Amino acid sequence: MQVDASTGLIAGVSFMESPNRSPRPKRSEPELIVVHGISLPAGQFGGGYIGKLFTNQLDTRDDPRFAALAGLQVSAHLLIARDGHLTQFVSFDERAWHAGESVFQGRHECNDFSIGIELEGTDASGFRDIQYERLESVIRLLREVYPRIGSDRVVGHCHIAPGRKSDPGPDFDWGRLQRNLGITRPITQRRVLAT
Ligand SMILES: [Zn+2]
Repeated sequence: MQVDASTGLIAGVSFMESPNRSPRPKRSEPELIVVHGISLPAGQFGGGYIGKLFTNQLDTRDDPRFAALAGLQVSAHLLIARDGHLTQFVSFDERAWHAGESVFQGRHECNDFSIGIELEGTDASGFRDIQYERLESVIRLLREVYPRIGSDRVVGHCHIAPGRKSDPGPDFDWGRLQRNLGITRPITQRRVLAT
């Protein structure tokens, strides 16, 4: 795998362009990877609804549980499906809208300086081996291309939005990333205070 420097996209992977993106602050580059879990409807896999949500194509009439998602504008840079299939939605050069209110080492607005990776699954379902393998190769690649992503800069959504988000869940195997990639086990950041 390679990141195309002119587009900020991983060459050869599926690309679905999301409108839910904005420029990064000037002279900034990715410094943090945020791992998430997502499924739509919750606990169901496949169906293509995540891609539809991230591209504002979700028909909220398709499932009664989608009503709460009406008008929601969210995205992530990457999605790793249950079968390991990788889709990119936003260039790494731009902000994807994945972290929401968040803090890392005292800095708020983690979307400004992070790359968001969604794994299809729930806190309870765990994730498949093929998803971990794909995640590991993506993290390896991104750390090569963006050297500011240090070994202490791969975290879960739960760590940067404590009390508000729990994904990718307590059973996510951080020890595996530690063993295979030398990633430091993330620590939960100081609670986000409303300002
Ligand atoms: Zn999340």
